[in-house]
Amino acid sequence: MPERVPRILILGGGFGGVYCALELEKRLARQGLAEVTLVNRDNFFLFTPMLHEVAASDLDVTHIVNPVRKLLKHVRFWNGEIERIDSESRIVHVSHGSEHHHHELHYDHLVVALGAVTNYYGLPGLETGALAMKSLGDAITLRNRLIANLEQADAETSVEARRSLLTLVVAGGGFAGVETVAGVNDFLRGAVRWYAGVPAAELRLVLVHSGDLILPELGPELGAYAQKKLAARGVEILTGVRVTASDPSQVTLSDGTRIPCDTLVWTAGTSANPLLAGLPGADATGRLVADEHLAVMASPGLWALGDAARVMDPATGRPYPPTAQHALRQGKVLAKNLEATLMGRKLHPFRFRSPGALAAIGRRTGVARIFGVNFSGFAAWWLWRTIYLAKLPRFEKKLRVMLDWTLDLVFAKDLVQFMTFRSTGVSHAEETHP
Ligand SMILES: Cc1cc2nc3c(=O)[nH]c(=O)nc-3n(C[C@H](O)[C@H](O)[C@H](O)COP(=O)(O)OP(=O)(O)OC[C@H]3O[C@@H](n4cnc5c(N)ncnc54)[C@H](O)[C@@H]3O)c2cc1C
Repeated sequence: MPERVPRILILGGGFGGVYCALELEKRLARQGLAEVTLVNRDNFFLFTPMLHEVAASDLDVTHIVNPVRKLLKHVRFWNGEIERIDSESRIVHVSHGSEHHHHELHYDHLVVALGAVTNYYGLPGLETGALAMKSLGDAITLRNRLIANLEQADAETSVEARRSLLTLVVAGGGFAGVETVAGVNDFLRGAVRWYAGVPAAELRLVLVHSGDLILPELGPELGAYAQKKLAARGVEILTGVRVTASDPSQVTLSDGTRIPCDTLVWTAGTSANPLLAGLPGADATGRLVADEHLAVMASPGLWALGDAARVMDPATGRPYPPTAQHALRQGKVLAKNLEATLMGRKLHPFRFRSPGALAAIGRRTGVARIFGVNFSGFAAWWLWRTIYLAKLPRFEKKLRVMLDWTLDLVFAKDLVQFMTFRSTGVSHAEETHP
C-alpha cells in the first residue's frame, strides 16, 4: 500500500493562514508532498487595512476581499465553522452549510491562525448594542446603519430624536477607530446635502480614547497632528476617558458624561479566539505560546501564528504586535518550517523589524512613520494608498480598487443600502387572461 502523505490543516483564512497556505502550495502541495487543507468561516480573504473604506462608502464591498479558491489552487479549501480542536486525538471538529453538518478533519500538523475576537469586557449593553469593526459584515452593517439613520433623520420631526440618529460614537483611538471615524465623518458630511431634512450642524461624531493622544503607535507628534486635523473637520475627540456602558439611546463614559446617540462603534479591545482555550500552550490571555520557529512547544505538531499566537521578539523582549505585517510574514516562515520538519532540515527563526505604520485620516490626508521618519498630510495619504494597493492580493482587485478611487474623484460617494432580505410576493390562484 502506498505511504500516506502528511496532512497539514490550517485553521483560519486571514493574513497568517492564507500566506502560510500560499507558501505551502509552492513548497509542498503542488508537488503532492503533503495534503494541505485550509478551513475558514468565510469563503474569502479580507484585506482589513481597507475595511474602513467599505464602511465609509469609498470602496465597493467586494473589492477588498478575494475568494480563497481563486488564491489557492493546490490547497484544499473547506468553508465552514471550526467548532472544537482536539489536539490529543489530532482531530478538528467542523460544521458547514445551513444545517451545520458535522465533520471531523484529521491532521498530522495543525496551524492555528484563528486571529482574535472583539472583546467588550462585560461592559453593560455593548455586546448586544455596539457595532464592531472586524469583519466585512461589520463594515457593511455600519455603512447600512449610517444610511438608514440619515433616511430616518430626514423625516424625523423631533430634534432630540434626530440628533441621536445623527450622533456616532467611536470607542478606541488606535488605527481601526481613527480610520473609521475619519472615513465616516467625510462620508456623512458629504452625504447630508442629499437630505433636505438633515441640518449638517446636527451631525455629531465623537472619538473616545483612554490615552492622552490618539494613534499612540505613531508617537506624540503624529497623534497630535491627527487629532488637530480631525477636530478641524468636526470630529470631537475625548481623551482620558472610556466608554463604560451603552443602551439604545445613549453611551455612558467613565467621567459620567452621557452622550445621546444611536450608534456606538467599538474598536477598543480584542481577546484571544475562544477556540484556543484549553489547548496545550495557551497562556493566561488565551493565546498560544509559540517559539521562534512558530511551533507550540507544549504540543508536537501544533503551530501558531498571527493574532492567535504569542511569539517573543528577542530585540524588544516583548511579544510581536498583532498586525497583518507580522501575521503574513509569520505565515511564510511557518510554511518553510513545516517543509523543513517534513524533510528533516534545520528550522528558520522568525525575525522581523517592522518598517513602520500608516493611517489614513480622511480628506486625502494621512499620518505615517516609516523607518523612523514621520510623514503627514497628502504625502502620508499617498504612501498609505500606494503601499496598501501594492499589498492587496490579485491584480483584478487592485484594478477594481484603483477604479473606485479614481471614480471617487469625480462622483459623490454612493448612498445605496445593501439589502439582504428576500422580496415579498403573493401566493394565490389567478385567472389567466387571453
Ligand atoms: C479594521 C482593522 C484594520 C487593520 N489595519 C491594519 C493595518 O493597517 N496594518 C496592519 O498591519 N494590521 C492591521 N490590522 C490588524 C490585522 O488585520 C491583524 O493583525 C491580522 O488580520 C491578523 O492575522 P491573523 O491571520 O492572525 O488573523 P485574521 O486575519 O483575523 O484571520 C483569522 C481568520 O480565522 C477565521 N476564523 C476565526 N474563528 C473561526 C471559526 N470558529 N471557524 C472558522 N473560521 C474562523 C476568521 O474568519 C478569519 O478569517 C487591522 C485590523 C482591523 C480589524
